Amino acid sequence: MSRYWSAIVHRLAPYVPGDQPAIAHPIKLNTNENPYPPSPMVLAAIARELGNAGDNLRRYPDPVARRLRATVAAHHGLKPEQVFVGNGSDEVLAHTFASLLKHHRPLRFPDITYSFYPTYARLFDVCYRAMPVADDMSICVNDYVRDVGGVLLANPNAPTGRALSLADIERIVVGNKSSVVVIDEAYVDFGAQSALPLVDRYPNLLVVHTTSKARSLAGMRVGLSFGHADLIEALNRVKDSFNSYPLDRLAQAAAQAAYEDQDYYETTRARVIASRERMKQALERQGFDVVPSAANFVFARHSSHDAAVLAARLKDQGIFVRHFRQPRIEQYLRITVGTEEECRAVVAALHELLV
Ligand SMILES: *Cc1c(COP(=O)(O)O)cnc(C)c1O
Repeated sequence: MSRYWSAIVHRLAPYVPGDQPAIAHPIKLNTNENPYPPSPMVLAAIARELGNAGDNLRRYPDPVARRLRATVAAHHGLKPEQVFVGNGSDEVLAHTFASLLKHHRPLRFPDITYSFYPTYARLFDVCYRAMPVADDMSICVNDYVRDVGGVLLANPNAPTGRALSLADIERIVVGNKSSVVVIDEAYVDFGAQSALPLVDRYPNLLVVHTTSKARSLAGMRVGLSFGHADLIEALNRVKDSFNSYPLDRLAQAAAQAAYEDQDYYETTRARVIASRERMKQALERQGFDVVPSAANFVFARHSSHDAAVLAARLKDQGIFVRHFRQPRIEQYLRITVGTEEECRAVVAALHELLV
């Protein structure tokens, strides 16, 4: 039936998400979800929003998520017109490609990074250059201090977990005055410095956040971005040319409550960070080489065991980790930090497999 396809469909290479296993009690450490449920305040807010017999659901949601944007803006010391929200940060990134990153000169991002970036580049026909990371997975900052056609960096990077300092990010932003620098901070809460304090000073900086990781709301699909009001207006123009109501009522209420319960966020992220450090040490004792991680996952390779084989054996036991069949990283496993119990289970399973 492909004769009915548009030309672009033939050229697409869609993003492949990690498995959502159908088995009963998987140990699911393959998509960087939070191992803890959302705050109880989130559940209460959803119940309130449902209202009497779900009556609110008859009505369209607020197309510009005013209350949510005001809450998050205040939380970060910004103005609501500096905040954009979308259906997951994936959608925010998609609108960013269409509205701010599609130019004659090539966009730059690392060769090892979130694989949605090249996927969106193909969908939106954006020319790009993938700049090689060093063998230790670090990003070469100088590659991005050349004002050519925009920069897109995940910080901390995925799937490596490595973070750049705020000083390095600022150097990149300053070095790209005529184009937009997008910093995707999906994992920033787990140990990196946010670039948000730079937003008021640089009109070419867009910072992207998500509620999917540190705020345990991957199932609600709420992403955000922060930047100069001009950048936000560009995103709104694209959004209103695509879907005026990207966030449903429950998602708006849930995300707002998640930002209101700061104590819960602090507690759960501290737990994840502590588990990560314990898991990293346990893996190192088993002979894994673990990339320093500022995220809620570790990226590790073993000197004498094939990563694809290890991933398959773990899967046989109901333990799901991520393995990428991709040049340069095919010997790595990306393991999400789970609960303490889940981390111990994956370490124990590897212990058996490595003997
Ligand atoms: C998980 C992730 C996202 C997507 O998050 P959603 O808000 O769930 O769409 C964006 N960027 C990176 C680097 C991620 O790992």
